[in-house]
Amino acid sequence: MFCKECKNGILDVIRVEKYPEGLKDKIAYQRLCDVQCLSCGKIYYSQPFDWGKSINEVRDLKNG
Ligand SMILES: [Zn+2]
Repeated sequence: MFCKECKNGILDVIRVEKYPEGLKDKIAYQRLCDVQCLSCGKIYYSQPFDWGKSINEVRDLKNG
């Protein structure tokens, strides 16, 4: 994952969403994270953290 601002900066995870309290299925829950470019310092909020390769997945609200 590279920075869209400076094109070649590497994005570093600076914060990861905590699991909601009482959550039973931690494997299925897809956390979000904030990432920051190591090159220019730009921060991208709410990026997928547990979603693997697909970035277009949508959280299944039926099981929430
Ligand atoms: Zn950058």
